[in-house]
Amino acid sequence: MTKKLNLATKCLHSGYIPGNGEPRVAPLVQSTTYKYDSADILGDLFDLKTEGHIYSRISNPTVSNFESKIADLEGGVAAIATTSGQSANILAVLTLCKSGDHIVALSNLYGGTVSLFTHTLKRFGIDVTFIKVNATDNEIKSAIKDNTKLVFGETIGNPKVEVLDIERIANVAHENGIPLVIDNTFATPILCRPIEFGADIVTHSTTKYIDGHARALGGILVDGGKFNWKNGKFDDLVKPDPSYHGLSFVDTFGEAALSAKARCALVRDIGFIQSPFNAFLTDLGIETLALRLERHSENALKIAKFLEENEKIEWVSYPGLESNPTYNLTKKYLPNGSSGIIAFGIKGGVEEAKKFINSLKLISLVTHVADTKTCVIHPASTTHRQLTEKQLEKGGISSSLIRLSVGIEDVKDLLEDIENALKRI
Ligand SMILES: *Cc1c(COP(=O)(O)O)cnc(C)c1O
Repeated sequence: MTKKLNLATKCLHSGYIPGNGEPRVAPLVQSTTYKYDSADILGDLFDLKTEGHIYSRISNPTVSNFESKIADLEGGVAAIATTSGQSANILAVLTLCKSGDHIVALSNLYGGTVSLFTHTLKRFGIDVTFIKVNATDNEIKSAIKDNTKLVFGETIGNPKVEVLDIERIANVAHENGIPLVIDNTFATPILCRPIEFGADIVTHSTTKYIDGHARALGGILVDGGKFNWKNGKFDDLVKPDPSYHGLSFVDTFGEAALSAKARCALVRDIGFIQSPFNAFLTDLGIETLALRLERHSENALKIAKFLEENEKIEWVSYPGLESNPTYNLTKKYLPNGSSGIIAFGIKGGVEEAKKFINSLKLISLVTHVADTKTCVIHPASTTHRQLTEKQLEKGGISSSLIRLSVGIEDVKDLLEDIENALKRI
């Protein structure tokens, strides 16, 4: 019903559709369980013969409404909301990989994802090869091995905000029989829908723009529904699954096989579904997602241009600047705005960067990005501090890099704060 609507309208109307006399807004169903009239009805639910909620570790009405809205916004067939962005990313990997498998990842990922892939996955026998953002088709191809199960990238890299050539990377992945997973946190479906460019799975830290108000931690995995799991590489989705009394996810769920396995096996067993309250809060945030991203993008472009012209600034990276090396990709993937994250370097080094941050009054120093209030961080000494010099260099993170997450305040106030802080260096 909502397929034909535009994105800003979907932000308000997708997911929950009230019937006659029902609540206007999606209710918060704060219940761990659901009552049934007979053992047979509940038995059919366990057999996945009928649809319904059994237990809130597997699904919940409030969470389901939120999932349907995001699936619709991203153009996917189903979605699973998780406790955090990290758990959405690990859910994507664990649904497709087991011990002995391998993944290929772009090197400019969020620091938490780099350490998840480098250290934690390794402890479970899943190996990773990192490739450069601008890796050629051949370089990507040679990183893919027989046991590689997916390629993982971010629409807008973190923290240096390069735009990824999603379509090209999806083509190389598909030529090698594996899916592309895209973490679309910084772009949101308002600015870019990776599934339209060939991505097979999209993840988000909904903690960021989707909630948008720094109120609720969360993540989501969206199933694109287009990948052919029957190509011989993904037997776990095709063959009878002993953890679900021998059903084949592909035969039973068709295009939604991946998300069905993720929910019925992984989320069921590991237990990282989003709480109803966080889904309720996040769904409230989404109502203004399109409006907010318009303002975030507009403010960030003005600030990026201001910084580019300031003599104390060494360099500025923002996808919306014509000087950006990936500007041709910006035009293709982010035609309606480049989001609110800017990376820049102040002339000098770490000391100057710290002095600038310490001198800001309105803009605050917090470990966060992508919410309504403008904030700043110095990744080398904070979010990416667990990475080695070499990893930092590979991810393009210089020690003077400052990451500014531009909020939706009146841009004049932000510019004044930045200008004053720059004067103090
Ligand atoms: C923050 C972030 C994550 C992790 O999300 P959490 O909700 O903090 O677990 C993953 N990817 C990107 C791009 C992020 O910005």
